[in-house]
Amino acid sequence: KKRIGMLTSGGDSPGMNAAVRAVVRVAISRGCDVYAIYEGYEGLVNGGDMIKKFGWADVRGYLAIGGTLIGSARCKAFREREGRLNSAYNMVKNGIDALIVCGGDGSLTGADVLRSEWPGLLDELIKEGRITAEEAAPHKHLTVVGLVGSIDNDMSSTDITIGAVSSLHRICEAVDSISATALSHSRAFVIEVMGRNCGWLALMAAVSTGADFVFIPERPPASDDWESEMCEILNKHRKLADYIKELLSNRMKLDTRVTTLGHTQRGGKPCSFDRNLATLQGVEAVHAVLRATSDTPSPMIGVRQNKITCEPLMKAVGLTRQVAEAISRKDFRRAMELRDPEFSE
Ligand code: ATP
Repeated sequence: KKRIGMLTSGGDSPGMNAAVRAVVRVAISRGCDVYAIYEGYEGLVNGGDMIKKFGWADVRGYLAIGGTLIGSARCKAFREREGRLNSAYNMVKNGIDALIVCGGDGSLTGADVLRSEWPGLLDELIKEGRITAEEAAPHKHLTVVGLVGSIDNDMSSTDITIGAVSSLHRICEAVDSISATALSHSRAFVIEVMGRNCGWLALMAAVSTGADFVFIPERPPASDDWESEMCEILNKHRKLADYIKELLSNRMKLDTRVTTLGHTQRGGKPCSFDRNLATLQGVEAVHAVLRATSDTPSPMIGVRQNKITCEPLMKAVGLTRQVAEAISRKDFRRAMELRDPEFSE
């Protein structure tokens, strides 16, 4: 009988609760025990009442709620071997032999680091006298499965991450509201959205709301003369609207406001797409745990061309890192090729 621990880690994203709910209910229906680990890796390191066995009813109502109800954190202790040793101890004490982690590339890397140190951590715990060889015996193998919860949609090997579409909806709503004011006062608005190295949110929001101009990390302004280019485009668009034409006399001397949308774009209810995605992927995560053998690399559950996928986690994380590095050294072509092997200008 498998005993699965489930945690959410890193930045929260809408749909994480749906993933937890699916994992809990499918695990139970497949005869497994399932444990919620609170506050990401904090709960794993600290144990005690931060690890709680979940029943069917514990995840009632989870589908419709944003954020993550079992909590998330950025945990320094888990980055150290000592923290992971404590994690191994708490897993053995709770009988947990599989871990499903929903988070970004950092969180998924952390899970794989734990697995790579297995079963060495157990030997260390036995040597320190914290657990017995008998307690360790059923834990020889640790299964780790990753689910990608992130609004940034920045993970390689998957078309979309849990939470990205909800966030996009929220951004569009916010921009629509701002547009009303922008039109009324002929103001220009500069909207800053999240996404770190990945321009997906910015680009999709720009297309969906009819932005005049968009800046994304993958394609910064082509020429040094981007100011004129931008003014030209805005100017052209403004000219289309008769009722603000007269205001163009001073060309771009528009009253301009900058709005940083901040965390409203991350919280809030998950849209139906994210609920479905997280549910289907949660189901697959439990199946991946049940299929796993000691020599299969840790899988990451993704989605490609509308099909739920299961691919090596560290390959996806490695690719994601390479993309970020290519962007930071301004090798945008390489970044796009890494994201999409069929990419052409
Ligand atoms: P987001 O995309 O929201 O930033 P993330 O999962 O990438 O999410 P991180 O802060 O990078 O967020 O990682 C979350 C937690 O995962 C860290 O606080 C740490 O506990 C653990 N973690 C990350 N990287 C490692 C690593 N290399 N080794 C061990 N643990 C790690």
